Amino acid sequence: MEDIRRYQVGRATINRVTELLLPAIPTTFLFPEWDPAIMQHDLDCLDPRSVSSDGQTLALSVHSWVVRTDQHTIVIDTGAGNGKDRPLNAIFHHLDTPYLSRLEAAGVAREDVDFVLITHLHVDHVGWNTVHEGDRWVPTFPNAKYVFSKAEYEFYADPANVQTPSAGVFEDSVKPVIDAGLAILIDADSPTLLEGLKFHSTKGHSYDHLSISLESQGQTALFSGDVMHHPIQVAMPEWNSVFCEFQEEARLSRRWALDFAAQRQAHFFSSHFPGTSAGLVERKGEGFAWLPC
Ligand SMILES: [Zn+2]
Repeated sequence: MEDIRRYQVGRATINRVTELLLPAIPTTFLFPEWDPAIMQHDLDCLDPRSVSSDGQTLALSVHSWVVRTDQHTIVIDTGAGNGKDRPLNAIFHHLDTPYLSRLEAAGVAREDVDFVLITHLHVDHVGWNTVHEGDRWVPTFPNAKYVFSKAEYEFYADPANVQTPSAGVFEDSVKPVIDAGLAILIDADSPTLLEGLKFHSTKGHSYDHLSISLESQGQTALFSGDVMHHPIQVAMPEWNSVFCEFQEEARLSRRWALDFAAQRQAHFFSSHFPGTSAGLVERKGEGFAWLPC
């Protein structure tokens, strides 16, 4: 069942809306640099639900974060979506999940959402941007502005730059939002659109990946997108996922996010960690440790 646990960061309320749980992704597929010896050492630090006892498989979550401030209802990333044709990506092909009912159960009607913030334009982050109506894809959140990177948009507008797992995504989940006039294209240095909210350049996983921080009453939240996929990367930040497109930049961005979160004692809201998907990052020796909360 949906975990509607709520987090408070200053005056903002934050909760997850789950789309999918992926209970058994092979470790050596997700992390090509996976080292079973190191894994054994770090197993003790991980929630047993996040990795199988033999270290062969990992659990991942696909979800959105809903942020409610005094003024706004914000959805951060929109999962993979229902009914999307993804013949080259079996996990997300023609999904039929109760994501919208879960959103409603969390107290959010589609019409309530005034901002959709997107960390990057991969298949599992933009799907609920649109729903199928008649013979076309239309924006799911009719009163929202959809905010994402201009450079990312221009890069993936060229099909030659789109990796196989995200084939078709631009056409059914990004372009309809542009055509409806609901998109605001930005870069990390664009003036702040929303009080307390800031975009940070965390390139690497994708062409112009952005992370999002929220400051309220002296507290900080960081929505890190796919800077990391799994808590094991807090201990092993040099490990890229198989989906990271620009390897060295992805490592630098991961290091930046960990430093940022540890330094500010930020609530870290991940895109794919299993369990609650949220926690704190603490310094541990030369590296970092993950404290779920
Ligand atoms: Zn992702």
